[in-house]
Amino acid sequence: MSSTASINSWCLSSVSPAQSSLRRATLRPCAFARLGSSSSASPPAPPSLIQNKPVFAAPSPIITPSWNEEMGKDYEEAISALQKLLSEKGDLKPVAASKVEQITAELQTPDGKPAFDPVERIKSGYIHFKKEKYDANPALYSELAKGQSPKFMVFACSDSRVCPSHVLDFQPGEAFVVRNVANIVPPYDQTRYSGAGSAIEYAVLHLKVSYIVVIGHSACGGIKGLLSIPDDGSTSTDFIEDWVKIGLPARNKVKSAHPNASFPELCGHCEKEAVNVSLGNLLTYPFVREGLANKTLGLKGGYYDFVKGSFELWGLDFGLSPAFSVKEVATILHWKL
Ligand SMILES: [Zn+2]
Repeated sequence: MSSTASINSWCLSSVSPAQSSLRRATLRPCAFARLGSSSSASPPAPPSLIQNKPVFAAPSPIITPSWNEEMGKDYEEAISALQKLLSEKGDLKPVAASKVEQITAELQTPDGKPAFDPVERIKSGYIHFKKEKYDANPALYSELAKGQSPKFMVFACSDSRVCPSHVLDFQPGEAFVVRNVANIVPPYDQTRYSGAGSAIEYAVLHLKVSYIVVIGHSACGGIKGLLSIPDDGSTSTDFIEDWVKIGLPARNKVKSAHPNASFPELCGHCEKEAVNVSLGNLLTYPFVREGLANKTLGLKGGYYDFVKGSFELWGLDFGLSPAFSVKEVATILHWKL
């Protein structure tokens, strides 16, 4: 099955699911570091750490491939289910099953006109990037072609307003980014959270990032969802509540600390406290603990308030405060420009 299709002549080179699967993974660490600025150690700079010092020897090979024919069954069944749905709606009758992709690629308004042209938007966006960024920075992109050595791993929310590359002006190669609902770092769990775990493992052991930064933000829908879960713990979503429940310790803490707070105020507190829960969860990963102990890795909490236009950054003193709290952290840097 091929789920990627060339749309027209300008199209980017596509990678098929098979090509992009783990067995073909070509991610690799390299020795080229590039940071736009390494601000001095006086506030607001983070403490300087020894760079490019291995946390400990990386196992080899990086990924042990295991793949069998059964693994494609889930999406094949899903395609069949979609074909059945389209047939029932009458859309598929005259169309071969292989046309499902084209049908689902063209969203239409009730009057039959295209609602939005995603191809044009993506094309114009790429042309702009290629001309203004890629072609304008041959040195950077030729260096990145050799590999990546980002200083930062960043956890940020999937919220469309908080892209860390925009907010913090990260350039390509600077930050290894994971985005999910409510910027949550789940605890070490090889079966439930292998997605996050693989990213952390790769960032720490192979890319050897210097800092992991978890960035919360104002008006976070995920945190609002966390605070909206009934006290009996019942859920009504397939995934969302189960996911944001990872932040329950933050919810419990801010609810008891601010019993008279309004719901929006509580959300604000919880958006920050959930970052601390995530920083605590990072400690459940043995290679993160190892990095902290060896002083090759640092953890930071951040909070971007796009209503006020401010950004806070803090570190945690794990020795002093096992019950992580924003108020107890050693340093809070706050910028409102
Ligand atoms: Zn959010």
